[in-house]
Amino acid sequence: MNKGRILIGQVLALSLIIFVFGNIVIVAQTYEFKNGKWFNGKEFEKKTLYSIDGVFSNKKPKEIDKTFDLKNGFVIPPFGDAHTHNLSDAKTFESQIENNLRDGNFYVQVLTNSQKSVAAIRQEVEKSPLDVLYANGGLTSTLGHPFFAFEPRAMGVKGRYWESGEKLAEIRKSRLAENDGYWFFDSKKDVDEKWDKYLAGKPDIVKIYLLDAKNQKNLSVEEKAGFKGLAPEVAEYVVKKAHESNLRVFAHIETADDLRLGTKIGVDGFAHLPGYSMNWNDSPEAAVKYDPTAEDFKKIAEKKIVVIPTLSLSKGYSYKWKSDGTRELNVERANKVATRQKKLLRLMLENDVPIAFGSDETDGTIIKEFLYVKEYNLLENLTLLQIAFETPHLMYPNRKVGKLKKGFEASFLVLDENPLENLEAIKNIKMRFKQGKFLEVNAKQNR
Ligand SMILES: [Zn+2]
Repeated sequence: MNKGRILIGQVLALSLIIFVFGNIVIVAQTYEFKNGKWFNGKEFEKKTLYSIDGVFSNKKPKEIDKTFDLKNGFVIPPFGDAHTHNLSDAKTFESQIENNLRDGNFYVQVLTNSQKSVAAIRQEVEKSPLDVLYANGGLTSTLGHPFFAFEPRAMGVKGRYWESGEKLAEIRKSRLAENDGYWFFDSKKDVDEKWDKYLAGKPDIVKIYLLDAKNQKNLSVEEKAGFKGLAPEVAEYVVKKAHESNLRVFAHIETADDLRLGTKIGVDGFAHLPGYSMNWNDSPEAAVKYDPTAEDFKKIAEKKIVVIPTLSLSKGYSYKWKSDGTRELNVERANKVATRQKKLLRLMLENDVPIAFGSDETDGTIIKEFLYVKEYNLLENLTLLQIAFETPHLMYPNRKVGKLKKGFEASFLVLDENPLENLEAIKNIKMRFKQGKFLEVNAKQNR
């Protein structure tokens, strides 16, 4: 390791060491972190760790550039958001990068974005310390979801367009965001014809849409426009093609049968829990239609399929809109939703389903999801944090992220207080360190 080390002296108050590997020059420093209480997967233990070439080591190296006293701070792995729609807009992406880093969220998975909008900012995003995976356009059938999430915006249509038949008809005919925000794959032939063009947009991951997929055939194109997705056989074909291109596939799902279909065709992740939206209600019929069984979760765990339950999103479907444009929480429904979520989370944990947190936010960060879980007491702090720390690894399965131990990427956050005792401690981050580098953030935390 010492071979090729050139000491170039004092730069920026600290000595910089340059490692030369062929043509690649990596600037790195060796740090010692003393007096920290490090999370070991279950609790906090006092130890000294080192960051060497951006990787954790527990062995004291010969040369240390600087020693930091963590003053009994609580050290945790950084967070990840496995389901967002942010970082896609030239006007907002810089502040969103800053917000994520400030909240200790170092990894973001954008599950559907406008490919064109992202192409314009992608280089800038890649230069930032934030690691971002883009799915680009959503793969669906003609007029399926997410058509209405992209087309009206591309047309500059604002307001409650769905209340005007004329406006709706105009939108349905428009295709400004086609092959950008959404792709229409009505048949395997469509997939074959459009696949190279889709890949040319360089998606990091693939997002497919399953909306009551087994009943697709019974729906006409106009019927339930926006509330449909890929037909089962087309979805299966897309998964096969994506895997041939080494791309992981995340599926939007609505029903328990969509989840079963996704499991069967081998998707890599589910972007929601079935019944996350207003379609669910507290009835026996809804339970049959939307609730996965222990058997379903066992199969998902066996195949190591990641479930992103987007828990806080469901609260959004428990509001009643009033005529003056304000909204009011339907407390009874929100509580019923939370009771169901708690039950399904327990069932997933009992069956070792890999769970990743995702906010489904267009602007906020994953902190919203943590605080929702806490508000409704869906999980104990320890379990909540274990899932939060494992999420980045479920987004980047080939990277050694999410653990504060030898051989893992040296990335961490330091808190003043123990988050196992007080979860709110995560709102007050004292130090941010990613892959061997300190991160400075401008914006204040604790909004
Ligand atoms: Zn989403």
